[in-house]
Amino acid sequence: MQTQPTASHYIGGAYVEDTAGTPIDVIYPATGEVIGRVYSATPAVIDHALTSARAAQAEWAAMTGTERGRILRRAADILRERNHDLSVLETYDTGKPYQETSVVDATSGADALEYFGGMAATLTGEHIPLGEDWVYTRREPLGVCVGIGAWNYPTQIACWKSAPALACGNTMVFKPSETTPLCALKVAEILHEAGAPAGVYNVVQGLGDVGAALVSDPRVDKVSLTGSVPTGRKVYAAAAAEMKHVTMELGGKSPLIIFDDADLENAVSGAILGNFYSSGQVCSNGTRVFVQSGIKEAFLARLTERLGAAVIGDPQDPETSFGPMVSERQMEIVQGYIAKGQDEGARLVTGGERLERDGFFLEPTVFADVTDDMTIAREEIFGPVMAVLDFEDEADVMARANDTEFGLAAGVFTSDLTRAHRVAAGFEAGTCFINSYNDAPVEAPFGGVKASGVGRENSKAAIEHYSQVKSVYVRMGDLEAPF
Ligand code: NAD
Repeated sequence: MQTQPTASHYIGGAYVEDTAGTPIDVIYPATGEVIGRVYSATPAVIDHALTSARAAQAEWAAMTGTERGRILRRAADILRERNHDLSVLETYDTGKPYQETSVVDATSGADALEYFGGMAATLTGEHIPLGEDWVYTRREPLGVCVGIGAWNYPTQIACWKSAPALACGNTMVFKPSETTPLCALKVAEILHEAGAPAGVYNVVQGLGDVGAALVSDPRVDKVSLTGSVPTGRKVYAAAAAEMKHVTMELGGKSPLIIFDDADLENAVSGAILGNFYSSGQVCSNGTRVFVQSGIKEAFLARLTERLGAAVIGDPQDPETSFGPMVSERQMEIVQGYIAKGQDEGARLVTGGERLERDGFFLEPTVFADVTDDMTIAREEIFGPVMAVLDFEDEADVMARANDTEFGLAAGVFTSDLTRAHRVAAGFEAGTCFINSYNDAPVEAPFGGVKASGVGRENSKAAIEHYSQVKSVYVRMGDLEAPF
């Protein structure tokens, strides 16, 4: 692989290696082969990264927003120019089909850099008149931000966190998931090439202990995590102990409600996109598919038919539309859930088996007759397993849809306009879809409620999570005091 990064870490504008750290093998999920090796950051590497980020921050924040934005937009252009190579690397890192990575990963990362690059020059305070006196506010950066990534969208997560952070004048130390360490290094390389001063964006590798060391370091002002709810609870608690700002992008078990009057073909498309894209390894997936009784059999028949057209195979082949799970461990976790679904009495409609080939391939799997209390209806599986649940009545299905600790996303398919908006308003979720599923444009806020998260990524809303407002009171006349 020509595009492989050349060392484990990227600090102070250069690749850094320290083989004293624990080795982390990079495994290509489509074959199980080891395709690279990085080393977990030692305390010296962590210190180097935080020192670099801290040292670079004042200079970066002192640049005008226009100058910072120009660098981010240049980085966006480079990402787009190198989309092919970056997509190939993303496919090696994650196993996701090139058919997906070539249109979603580097491209959505570039969208974020372009959007926040354009916004950087507009980030200002306001003037608040108070008679003769007045207050002005300054929108200031938080300082050094730590980003911690999950393994399903390594390029996108690296960009979604760095773009708003850097636009606001912060610097960043990013720790990718140990399962997919490669892509964030390319983002660092590209930001540096685009003109980001040394130390503005640094990448260190490591397992959870490296993440924990970063979160609790007093030099860090903000932590943004994309990961599971259990990790989120730990990271949020550690950040709270030091009163640090947080963004938590966590897991979900989102409902997708299909009413009898839905367009069948669109509803099936939504269910496929919301369960089998990226082999089901998407946080916002609508994995509890509530289908009204009048459309149920037609829905299951058409779904099964269309799943038969999935092209499962070598993810680097542009014809392949369904790839492997990211790791053997993740595949085994999902196999465990499939077995539980069968044990607890759900009806296996299609799939359920591991493919007889190298790599970590599972069939797209659909269970019907799932009930609310079954494990596969309550826990996040994070694999290609759809649970179809029956319903008759809108009020009843809304109560069931919201009966979960999660609240990341939710979707509804119906041709009744009034009902669509009523249902969207009733969802306890941060991101909702009407007659669509899993769109994530940079212009729209993205994030969860309840246990699924704190804060929002993308859109103008992200600025609030990467900057703080200082009020400056200005007295124009004499100041009176009681004595
Ligand atoms: P994970 O929680 O196991 O790990 C996430 C990251 O946290 C990794 O980089 C890991 O090394 C690090 N980490 C682990 N323990 C830590 C600790 N104590 N302190 C600091 N860092 C620590 O998650 P995963 O298995 O990599 O990813 C899958 C999960 O991510 C799913 O639950 C999925 O829903 C969620 N996810 C959420 C979003 C979102 O935007 N809401 C997006 C993608 C994935």
